[in-house]
Amino acid sequence: MPADIPDTSSTSNTPDSPEHCEHHAPIKHCKNCGAAVVYRIPDDGDAKQRAICPSCQTVHYDNPLIVVGTLPVWGEQVLLCKRNIEPRRGRWTLPAGFMELSETVMQGAARETVEESGAQFEMGNFFSMVNVAKVGQVHLFYLAQLQSDRFEPGLETLEARLFAEDEIPWDEMAFRTVAQTLKCFFADRRAGQFVTHIIDID
Ligand SMILES: [Zn+2]
Repeated sequence: MPADIPDTSSTSNTPDSPEHCEHHAPIKHCKNCGAAVVYRIPDDGDAKQRAICPSCQTVHYDNPLIVVGTLPVWGEQVLLCKRNIEPRRGRWTLPAGFMELSETVMQGAARETVEESGAQFEMGNFFSMVNVAKVGQVHLFYLAQLQSDRFEPGLETLEARLFAEDEIPWDEMAFRTVAQTLKCFFADRRAGQFVTHIIDID
């Protein structure tokens, strides 16, 4: 596996926290009985403070979220979506979103691609796993082969369009996870071989 591509896009106007950090706001109330929780280390050998319900004793664990998406390809071009929702409304991203319960990573990536772009495509190989430990997220991208250059973006997307490498709006990308994944894709294409990438973002 090649070394990760250095992040040359991390200028001051490139956002560094990916998505929906509000999902990791502290837990305030018990999901079981609604009582106000307290934060303390549980009595079971755990090393971290957890939100514990003083009424029913339920221990709430706040674990990382998984974001799933695709990098859709049409000839020399890739598909990007302009976000119509916060955070980063008006900026460009690959079609991606939070994985739902009862779906596989690939199913979630395909679902998000349909929802955000209305594209027709075939799923390809798994491409990148991006750890964003600071905000408790893992982003997973598959390659996808577009079968048409007609898109019907949903309400979350202002515009879905194809970009050649030299047209990519690097300064208007919504997330570094997406920019890093795209950089790996174009580097692999120049090298003539697509491999799987594991990327850590600070
Ligand atoms: Zn409770």
